[in-house]
Amino acid sequence: MFDLRCIKCNAYYPPEERIYTCPKCGGLLEVVLEIDKITVTKKELDSRWMGVWKYREFMPVSETARIITLTEGGTPLHVVSNLREDFRVKELYVKNEGANPTGSFKDRGMTLGVTKALELGASAVACASTGNTSASLAAFAAVARLSCIVLLPTGKTAMGKLSQAILHGAKVIAIEGNFDDALELVRQACDEMNIYLLNSVNPWRLEGQKSLGFEIVDQLNWDVPDRIIVPVGNCGNSSAIWKGLKEFHAHGFIDKMPKITGIQAEGAAPVVHAYRDGLDDVIPVENPETIATAIRIGAPVSAPKTLQAVRESGGVMEAVSDEEILAAQRLLAKREGIGIEPASASTIAGLKKLLESGEIDRDERVVCVATGHALKDPEIIIKSSPAPITCEADIEKLKKVVAQLL
Ligand SMILES: *Cc1c(COP(=O)(O)O)cnc(C)c1O
Ligand SMILES: [Zn+2]
Repeated sequence: MFDLRCIKCNAYYPPEERIYTCPKCGGLLEVVLEIDKITVTKKELDSRWMGVWKYREFMPVSETARIITLTEGGTPLHVVSNLREDFRVKELYVKNEGANPTGSFKDRGMTLGVTKALELGASAVACASTGNTSASLAAFAAVARLSCIVLLPTGKTAMGKLSQAILHGAKVIAIEGNFDDALELVRQACDEMNIYLLNSVNPWRLEGQKSLGFEIVDQLNWDVPDRIIVPVGNCGNSSAIWKGLKEFHAHGFIDKMPKITGIQAEGAAPVVHAYRDGLDDVIPVENPETIATAIRIGAPVSAPKTLQAVRESGGVMEAVSDEEILAAQRLLAKREGIGIEPASASTIAGLKKLLESGEIDRDERVVCVATGHALKDPEIIIKSSPAPITCEADIEKLKKVVAQLL
């Protein structure tokens, strides 16, 4: 039905093996599905609810698996016509992943990852996280009644995300270091302490995240967009979208492929550098820095997969500044009423930049993936905006203040 394959040395492993990278060469693993055995039709899909499990046939879990779900996926694909006019581009959509149960696309991966954890007989799960992975894992682990350990970089996790991890009952450990340090530690701890690792190096998690690509083309009535723009941190999401669409293509659901375009923050852009230098993997950035904490990552694990996806699809990698990110966050919020977190806004900033440089044609149909909700990080909004005007509790004074604002 499905196997694990090393993308580096092509070794195959049975799905029951609890491994995250290739035991032979250390390469990344991916799940290989027998696409020619999948028989589901578009018509059958049409009668099902939206969400990750609408595409059940493409989700590699056994038929008897106990599926842990919070009805994730099925998020809106907004037609953003005000922004489209501002940017003078032919067609523009925002895929609003903030509408997921815990407010980010990570839920798509976790429904698969935690379902798989149960299948493999795990009793405890763990992850290192910039925030959203921990919020999501905490919620799904709670439903599955699994112990959940999360490692977060001290002082660099947005308040909304941290509070979710705590709320859902995860055991939170603040690591005195950055995300890359936390990931290295949790990988070792999981190996040595028989805990199931649910970072995006886990190939099963990416299988759930494929559904983001499925949904975009499904919502566009199977009319594939020219380009999908994704923020790039650890490279899980961008590579999962690409894998999913390749499977849809192989199955005959779509007849062309979009250009995968990845955006990073200037202070944390190892994949952009590797792309420009023609490398197959990144040279890690030592001290990654950006206000977009979800993509504040110096040593992305799945970089080889994303670099391949971007090149194979004819896309591009671009970096944007924190100022550009904050401006894009405000622009989308004010023009379209959609609140997204800074990492997500990097896609809007990237689109603007790539339109101006001519890399993206104004004739294209473009989808920007807004990965997480604005309320994940309320502090950055308050910090980067003017303070509210104060007024005494007096009607005459209030009228004066209001008159000045109209
Ligand atoms: C995790 C995350 C990203 C980065 O995705 P990767 O799969 O790590 O590349 C971007 N934006 C948000 C909001 C995230 O939570
Ligand atoms: Zn290998």
